[in-house]
Amino acid sequence: MESFSQHYDSLYAALERYMPGRDMTLIEQAIRYAEDKHKEQKRKDGSPYIIHPLAVAEIVTEMGLDTDAVLGALLHDCIEDTDASYDDIAKQFGDTVAQLVEGVTKLTRANFSSSEEQQMENLRKMFMAMSQDIRVVLIKISDRLHNMRTMQYQSQAKQITKCRETMDIYAPLAHRLGMQKIKWELEDLSLRYLEPEAHNDIMSYLKAREEHDKAFMRAIQEKITGRLLDMGIHNETYGRIKHVYSIYRKMEEQEKTLDELYDIYAFRVVVDTIPDCYNVLGHIHDLFSLVPGRFKDYISTPKPNMYQSLHTTVIGTQGIPFEVQIRTWEMHETAEYGIAAHWKYKQGDGAGSEKDFEWVRRLLESQQNTDAEDYVNSLKIDMFDDEVFVFTPKGKIVSLPAGSTPIDFAYAIHSGVGNAMVGAKVNNRIVNIDTTLSNGDIVEVITSKAGRGPSRDWLNICKSNQARTKIKQWFKKERREENVLHGRTSFEAEMRRLLLPLPAAMDEELQQSLLKKLSFDNWDDMYAAIGYGGLTATKAVGRIRDDINRAAKADKANTIPLKLNPEAAKGSRHSVNGVIVEDIDSCMIKFSKCCTPVPGDAITGFITKGFGVSIHRKDCPNANGRKDPRQAARWVQVRWDTAAEQPFETTLELDCITRDGLLLDVAMAMTSIRARVKELSGKDLPDGHSVFTVRFEVRNVAELESIRNRLLNIRDVMGTRRGQN
Ligand code: MN
Repeated sequence: MESFSQHYDSLYAALERYMPGRDMTLIEQAIRYAEDKHKEQKRKDGSPYIIHPLAVAEIVTEMGLDTDAVLGALLHDCIEDTDASYDDIAKQFGDTVAQLVEGVTKLTRANFSSSEEQQMENLRKMFMAMSQDIRVVLIKISDRLHNMRTMQYQSQAKQITKCRETMDIYAPLAHRLGMQKIKWELEDLSLRYLEPEAHNDIMSYLKAREEHDKAFMRAIQEKITGRLLDMGIHNETYGRIKHVYSIYRKMEEQEKTLDELYDIYAFRVVVDTIPDCYNVLGHIHDLFSLVPGRFKDYISTPKPNMYQSLHTTVIGTQGIPFEVQIRTWEMHETAEYGIAAHWKYKQGDGAGSEKDFEWVRRLLESQQNTDAEDYVNSLKIDMFDDEVFVFTPKGKIVSLPAGSTPIDFAYAIHSGVGNAMVGAKVNNRIVNIDTTLSNGDIVEVITSKAGRGPSRDWLNICKSNQARTKIKQWFKKERREENVLHGRTSFEAEMRRLLLPLPAAMDEELQQSLLKKLSFDNWDDMYAAIGYGGLTATKAVGRIRDDINRAAKADKANTIPLKLNPEAAKGSRHSVNGVIVEDIDSCMIKFSKCCTPVPGDAITGFITKGFGVSIHRKDCPNANGRKDPRQAARWVQVRWDTAAEQPFETTLELDCITRDGLLLDVAMAMTSIRARVKELSGKDLPDGHSVFTVRFEVRNVAELESIRNRLLNIRDVMGTRRGQN
């Protein structure tokens, strides 16, 4: 069991080494704060929880990060595991620290383990995308490193999950960020649990020959340093055995046993200047035999993760090959700590600013075209702009196009979820379903079996094609009748806009050719397609426009009655806009402006030239024309569809005695009975009278009558009249 004081002292020593002269007040305060918050918790090995944040802070300190990052590390589990809040931390330690802790918390809540390769790519992308501040990533990597170091206390199942995650996410990220040392440690620790036998084999093999290796490396080291001292080149040279995982991988890749594997030694010569590097290289090649084709100059051409060194492989005494890496101190820092080293050099000028993040982005971008075996291809620069990564309440990551809404999220989960959606929560708060989602949001869809299904508006709100397609599918399947109606309305409106006669007015032959042009078997199918959004009315009409115009021109006698739509005539009559036209189906209906009929009124229909059937009240003066024998054929019988429940516009004229405030009284009266007023205007007559015109919607004559009575009750309203325009 590890003790608090052990880790406390160790952290202080590190702070002393890496941040001499730092103000320790806040750090001390954060330690006390975390210790207090975590006081009820224990690590798996039984030691107090606080040793974990202390250890993570120590790793962060060794990376050379700043005070805010150290504070963030100390507090990194507070929001997730204790009652500490963002505001509380912000108040005591500042906004930056609170943001760092929150960032780490988001990553902690994310479930980064997944066996699907596809998901893997998303995970790594999202990890970066979520971490607005690179320090968040660095703290999280430190957190993982300490957890990996203490992995022996976890259950076997947990070991395997965590180690896979480490290999899939954390080690690649450490590599990408140039943090070689941490990457190696993460890989070795993972291998220990993922391939315990292989790990043991390698370890015991190395153990068995430890004395031999040490002697060998000492001899080489002395030979090198001896020469360099003679030449007056200040240097630090040491040998090491390559890390376990890289030996393991070499065995796998080259299908070799441990005995067959050479090239497990690496020597490092660290010098003061770049000229020294090349100078040393010459001496190495002079001392030992060079293995051809193994020299690499990463000084003139740095690796994408900023790594710089000269690499060469030579053969020493006993015929054993070994690699020599030659670098300056600065290159060494960069190789060990990667991006964190960069951090260290530019400290003091607003660390953690947007500029730093830009720098990371460029770094990641520059890695795109390197190292085919690497995953870096998956990390595109536009990932930050094009995608947004959010969580399900269970921590599964969902990747959506930037700007996505809860609707997109719901359909990304399952079309059933989307179709049953009645609302959404983001980060536990109810939001509008058109809310734009941000990276790291936890999104919960509220569903109801009684839900009415998607609304057509959703098609305009959603961002992802997936959601749009699924919504369209739903409309296609669930709402055929509604689609047909909706589609026909749009289609007819478009026809009217272009002053085209209805296709139903065409003879059968033309009809067939039009349908063929539209690639539909019948009109209803086409209307349905428009209705669910598979085809726009503009497009549909556009396709047949020329044909209709041509036919209309050819047909000089444009006054013939509408022909039947043979398809529809077989079935029961359909009402259009609430009116059934005897003998004719699928025809356009319009209500005459002159008498504004409403359901209940006795009506008649007149076949217009190319605009369908116009409906008049029977008592409308314009309807007298039906008595004209020359036009008799164009007057048809029509009736109200009693099942239709749609509103009709009508007009009432009020005869009134002029007085102040009367218009207001009329408006109030209409409002009080919730009448849907479209227009209200008044006109004074010379004799102290005035006429008010009210245009409004009603469903039927009964409703119209009740509105009329209400208006007649207003003082100074003397009479009403149905509108005559
Ligand atoms: Mn932790």
